[in-house]
Amino acid sequence: MPITGDQTLLKQLNRMAIVRCVRQRAGQSRADLAKETGLTKSTVSLLVQELIDEGWLQENAIQITGALGRRPTPLVVDPSRLAMVGAELGVDFIHVVGVSLVGEIISYSKEPVVGVDPKTVLGRLGAMLIQEVAIVRDAGRKVLGIGVGLPGAMDEAAGLLKVAPNLGWRRVDVASVLRAALADAGLSALPLWMQNEADVAALGEFEFGDAPVRDPLVYLSLGIGVGAGIVVNDRLFSGAAGFAGEVGHSILQVAGPRCSCGREGCAEAFIGLRAVAQQAAQQGEEGPSVAALADRIAHAEPQAVSAAARAGHYLGVLMQNLWTTFDPGRFVLGGPTCELGAPMLDAARETLSRYARDAGVPMPEVRLSRYGSRAVAAGAAAMVLHKIVRPLQKTA
Ligand SMILES: [Zn+2]
Repeated sequence: MPITGDQTLLKQLNRMAIVRCVRQRAGQSRADLAKETGLTKSTVSLLVQELIDEGWLQENAIQITGALGRRPTPLVVDPSRLAMVGAELGVDFIHVVGVSLVGEIISYSKEPVVGVDPKTVLGRLGAMLIQEVAIVRDAGRKVLGIGVGLPGAMDEAAGLLKVAPNLGWRRVDVASVLRAALADAGLSALPLWMQNEADVAALGEFEFGDAPVRDPLVYLSLGIGVGAGIVVNDRLFSGAAGFAGEVGHSILQVAGPRCSCGREGCAEAFIGLRAVAQQAAQQGEEGPSVAALADRIAHAEPQAVSAAARAGHYLGVLMQNLWTTFDPGRFVLGGPTCELGAPMLDAARETLSRYARDAGVPMPEVRLSRYGSRAVAAGAAAMVLHKIVRPLQKTA
């Protein structure tokens, strides 16, 4: 959104300040909001009425109490009339979701990706987004915008996917391709944002995780690659060139095992799915899939359990390093590796808590992602809300 400093922007700032207040603490009255925002009661009344008319807010049932009489009407976010559309472009699948203003997934679709040619893959992604917008609208909701999570480093302002190693893509202008597809479908007015997968998943947890969500929030995306999405001071921390959070290539062991990036001893060489599968493989066997590995763990096969626990231990070491860097209010773990379950997750917590005990400080909160395998798609939808309710926040 261009920053013009005119009345329209001022009004939008005030409107979204009200929405943020109600999202933070449901049930506030118009008088509470006037106090909280510093706006006059009449301005708040006017803007609240607009926000109710447009589907942002609703009035909760008025409480009548004998002694106190009629109490001020509590306002809450309206979960039923607006929605955001989000997508994850994975290495071999596309997830698309519609998400309500309170973070519920209201519709969902998934397709395998056939081929790796950017034009074909983005064509399919565009078609699925258009279809999802239609589904959400048919269900009687207005779509606020579209978000997309991509498996690589983004130049967010230009909409350029700089490099996606697992897709084999370099410098793909994702924004132009998707905007053209949306324009063809008459949807050029819908805002579109895109960002790295771990970053959008972090925004999903920041906007819709169980309250109270404490800042900074560090989301760890655990799969073949290992990455972090980091929210600091109410905004995504993406770095000078969009590479912040590439924690899979922080070094956990000097002269350790070789990583896919060419360095030795990276976190990914211990925690990445390929490394875990390799540890769990029987002699002469290819590394098993996540599902096969999870199945072996469920059957308490010692080699699989110990491979998962080893990965969990190194995950704990990685979290310790991130803890000292960011002092997070919350860690969130997501991605397919989480399916390895207790042996990995307990080992990670145990390692982190041992470091905490040694230092005599309380351990930070560690949670699993609210959205499981849909964390990126739901996070991409959350990014739309995150941007709209912060009209002054420029993209990096
Ligand atoms: Zn590496």
